[in-house]
Amino acid sequence: MSATAFDLTGKRILVTGANTGIGQGIALAIGRAGGAVIGVGRSSMAETEAAMAALGAGFQSYACDLADHRAAQAMLDRAWAASGPLDGLVNNAGIIRRQDAVDFSEQDWDEVMDINLKSLFFLSQAFARRLLAEERQGRIVNIASVLSFQGGIRVASYTASKHGVVGLTRLLACEWAARNINVNAIAPGYIETNNTAALRADPERRTQILNRIPAGRWGDPADIGDAAVFLLAPASRYVHGATLPVDGGWLAR
Ligand code: NAP
Repeated sequence: MSATAFDLTGKRILVTGANTGIGQGIALAIGRAGGAVIGVGRSSMAETEAAMAALGAGFQSYACDLADHRAAQAMLDRAWAASGPLDGLVNNAGIIRRQDAVDFSEQDWDEVMDINLKSLFFLSQAFARRLLAEERQGRIVNIASVLSFQGGIRVASYTASKHGVVGLTRLLACEWAARNINVNAIAPGYIETNNTAALRADPERRTQILNRIPAGRWGDPADIGDAAVFLLAPASRYVHGATLPVDGGWLAR
């Protein structure tokens, strides 16, 4: 029995892109809430592993290039078979490509779609197949964006993929809510990670963005992590198909 409705003790959550940025923030928040994390990605998870160990939280990692959705599915099956059932999946890994729409290349379209949308769907499918076969309950949290609701500029495939994430979150929730699988999303605002390094390096864009954020600061990965804990915990048991903005008020403006 959980100590509080926000407790993740005994839960095992797979987090993609857990080596850095928002994914690392989510992993550490899960650890602080008592859960264990299976970190998945193409880069070393050593930093996250050390931080989880310092919290006394469980952490395992699996190497996987999520550009290949079949490899992503095989990795989830391998992780499930090797170390037991998973209670949650956080589809966090994502990339962005910046170019004017008139010059946008097919490669920049396909690479973003493959990771941000295609692997997110097929990983969710692999996870749900396991849950349904064993009649287990589970949680899926997809990382969307404020560009799931706005157009943005120079990021055509990113905006298309993130609009798609919200649509898929709703569709999967409709199909799986009655089977005890909650599917929800978080729409982060402007968070200090590698993803926004180019924006923050441009003094004019950095100031423009900051001046538009009602909270008066850029977001921190921990801001997203704590919201993810809510969507992974019993507290959100009746929340299905929602996309929660965690954006310092950006979308409210
Ligand atoms: P980030 O620091 O660039 O992290 C992206 C993560 O995705 C990294 O762990 C990265 O691994 C992983 N990844 C990328 N391509 C991969 C691949 N082919 N296979 C496996 N892993 C791969 O950016 P972030 O800001 O934390 O982004 C996390 C999520 O939040 C993304 O979905 C992003 O779209 C979303 N988001 C971010 C913001 C923001 O302001 N930062 C706002 C809205 C939404 P590597 O380190 O190996 O590249």
